[in-house]
Amino acid sequence: MSAGTPDPRDALARLRAMQAADLPVHGGRTLAYVYDSGLPDVDRIGREAVAAYAGSNGLDPTAFPSLLQMENELVGFTADLLDAPPDAVGTVTSGGTESCLLTVQGARDSRPDVERPRMVVPSTVHAAFLKAAHYFGVEAVVVPVGADFRADPAAMVAAIDEAAERTVLVVVSAPSYAHGVVDPVPPVAAAAAERGIRCHVDGCIGGWVLPYAARIGRDVPPWTFAVDGVTSISVDTHKYAYAPKGTSVLLHRSPAHRRPQYFAHADWPGYTMLNSTIQSTKSGGPLAGAWAVVQSLGDAGYEQLTREVFEAVDRIVAGVDAIPEIDLVCVPDSTLVALVTDGTCDAFTICDEMAARDWYVQPQMSYAGQPPNVHLSVSAATLAHVDELLTALTESVAAAVAAGPVAVDPGIAEFVAALDPTALTDEDFDGLLVAAGLVGGDAADGLALPDRMAEVNAMLDLASPAMREALLVAFLDRLSRPTRRA
Ligand SMILES: *Cc1c(COP(=O)(O)O)cnc(C)c1O
Repeated sequence: MSAGTPDPRDALARLRAMQAADLPVHGGRTLAYVYDSGLPDVDRIGREAVAAYAGSNGLDPTAFPSLLQMENELVGFTADLLDAPPDAVGTVTSGGTESCLLTVQGARDSRPDVERPRMVVPSTVHAAFLKAAHYFGVEAVVVPVGADFRADPAAMVAAIDEAAERTVLVVVSAPSYAHGVVDPVPPVAAAAAERGIRCHVDGCIGGWVLPYAARIGRDVPPWTFAVDGVTSISVDTHKYAYAPKGTSVLLHRSPAHRRPQYFAHADWPGYTMLNSTIQSTKSGGPLAGAWAVVQSLGDAGYEQLTREVFEAVDRIVAGVDAIPEIDLVCVPDSTLVALVTDGTCDAFTICDEMAARDWYVQPQMSYAGQPPNVHLSVSAATLAHVDELLTALTESVAAAVAAGPVAVDPGIAEFVAALDPTALTDEDFDGLLVAAGLVGGDAADGLALPDRMAEVNAMLDLASPAMREALLVAFLDRLSRPTRRA
């Protein structure tokens, strides 16, 4: 290696060193963002498939026919899983958000006659649909859910009928992210069908486990294409199919339902562009990774992983029952568990205490009268560690009780209350960072996030959703600054 030429092996060593600071993606102790089968062979197969296809391009399926074959096989497997009719079709997208975006875009473009399209969603719908509404100029009509955190069919239908002629889409979840419950799909889908409106079921997170849960004899409310009126379903393979990150499947009841999702453009001097997804050039890696993982696990593998993940959920639910200060927000239909405290301790402190014990659980802010809570996306790999999880949770709750409620500094609360979320300036944000002790006296210093996030979360929780959005956007903007060489 000549002087001045970096040793390529150095880069990989540096990657590994940097990665050590990240949340672990294996081991079953990270209960958000990652989904762990606990099967090293399956992980290896997924990784090797991603690597083998990292350079291929899904832009043109005729140039890379193996990608087309893998996509058709993966969509076929998913269609079988979700009771899809014989002429159902689908697309592999880059993730849940892209599936949701395409659902809204396709619904909008299926109705070129509608000038001001709207869609009706329950308040628990994933934020990706609000992003889609924002991107595609579709009005989102958000309907409060019932006391059981499930979509309220009567209220949804009433919302549709306020302007049925402009309504291009109705969405329900199976299950919702925040509470892990399945919406009552049949009455909503039937009402949508009667009015000729598309009905999408967002099965992004639970769509891969619920069918296997039904097969092993658990109670699963009807939600698949077996329900009349369901026109499309999204399910993320990079969640509970335990595939590498970067894929989701969007299924449509018929080719006609998918057609408006396609984009073609011939009127320019280059190649005729023809896309089924938002991305055009796209790595074949994620598709190959998902295909390989699904092929290796197969129905038998997923059934076993589903037994394991639900055994973990059941044991967590029983364990929570034995901790008097915390309770389930609601009984989960799936593998997502939300925990609320009885007020003697703080949910954000519990999250910090869990992190101190090497368990990552996700704080959820208060919403519509519901207090802050702790969210767990349970993986099959968590089963082997459930006793440790419950010990950590018991200790964390005790520590949170001992620590008492998190008090937001009144000066900071006042500072935040005085800010205008629609006009938050860099100076405002710098002032807040200094006041909150997140930077030294000079706001140009690097951001120093505290190890314990409870105070920051409690401050954010006091803020209105609009203020929280503005603060977090400012925060991300501040984090994301280029590292220059000179
Ligand atoms: C995760 C999730 C999404 C968004 O998926 P990403 O893969 O994070 O883009 C959409 N809907 C639900 C219910 C989800 O849980």
